[in-house]
Amino acid sequence: MSTLRSALDELRSTDILVLSDEQLASDLDELEHATRVFEVERGRRVAELERRGAYARDGHLSLASWLAARHRVEPSTAAGHVRMARALEAMPVAAEALVSGDVSSSAITLLAHARDASPDAFSRSEESLVDAARTLSVDHLKDVVARWRHDHADDADEDRQELFVTPTLGGRGRLAGDLNAETTQVLVTALRAVQDAEVRSNDRTDTRSPARRRADALGEICRQWLDSSGRPTVAGERPHVIVTIDLESLGRSENAPGTARSAGARLPDVGAISAAHALMWSCDAQVTRVITDAASRPLDVGRTTRITPPWIRKALLVRDKSCAFPDCGRPPSWCDPHHVVHWTNGGPTALSNLVLLCRRHHRLIHHKRFSVELVDGLPRFRRADGTALEAADRAPP
Ligand SMILES: [Zn+2]
Ligand SMILES: [Zn+2]
Repeated sequence: MSTLRSALDELRSTDILVLSDEQLASDLDELEHATRVFEVERGRRVAELERRGAYARDGHLSLASWLAARHRVEPSTAAGHVRMARALEAMPVAAEALVSGDVSSSAITLLAHARDASPDAFSRSEESLVDAARTLSVDHLKDVVARWRHDHADDADEDRQELFVTPTLGGRGRLAGDLNAETTQVLVTALRAVQDAEVRSNDRTDTRSPARRRADALGEICRQWLDSSGRPTVAGERPHVIVTIDLESLGRSENAPGTARSAGARLPDVGAISAAHALMWSCDAQVTRVITDAASRPLDVGRTTRITPPWIRKALLVRDKSCAFPDCGRPPSWCDPHHVVHWTNGGPTALSNLVLLCRRHHRLIHHKRFSVELVDGLPRFRRADGTALEAADRAPP
């Protein structure tokens, strides 16, 4: 390992500016080859560590979780390393082809997928599949592997599926997965149903890309499921999203720019959220006051109260019927009551201070892209430049 380290040091001290194009290209070839060898060698060690169960000594339940903690990588990355290690061990011909530089690690990943489908059939086909990997581009190999899987898949493979949701830096999350036919169809159908309903809402301000619409639709589906009353309870409560906001930052955030992180607002799995988001989440929620000391130890927990009581919500539905934004019309199950003057700033939870808004328009209002006020008891909307926004049927010709 010390020879390896000094070789790496030498590599790092190379002045690449003096190298010719050919030298740079051949360096790149060498590095690609080395990377493949590293991958196989990492795999060998990972597989051996897993066999020894070394992770259990540190209290981890799997090698992937131990790796993720030790190298501070995402759980899905660590799980990928473990999967690759197991696959390489079970595919000796493929591993040899990787080391000798004949096939790339993308090809190995494809072959590993094929092996997952039917391990026994794979060992009989390994030589010919690796041969295909040697000569075909990754795209063509994908077709070959898909056809092979189709012919050899065990029944169990058709049912196999996985999903990873990983919170990333900066309060976001990444989604990755591999779904079986049934789940894929259900997901696509549900996403399409939400998108179709949105198209019918005839929303002129909607300039979102198809990818953005799909992501919004997924959020909406989960949101409505969490809001539905027939859900099972866990530990005596229906699971819900908990936002922790300190009162001081709520007051401060009313005029804060939308993207600024509010130090006092957090989602449990994602971390800090922006001030504008904190205000939006708290517009209609169940609020529990928890008084803490300087070290965040709870001193007193108050009663949980709903900001908008059911009878006011009902009156709001009668007045606004659907999202009140001009030409939107998304149904009430997609909407939240919005406080024109936020309750933390003394705005009353009364019809004279509430507007029913769908999630999308609620977000746009809190990010100050539009504003809303109540004129003669009815919501009136303005663009950020102050001009009035009218529904198409009320707009002057
Ligand atoms: Zn609001
Ligand atoms: Zn709307």
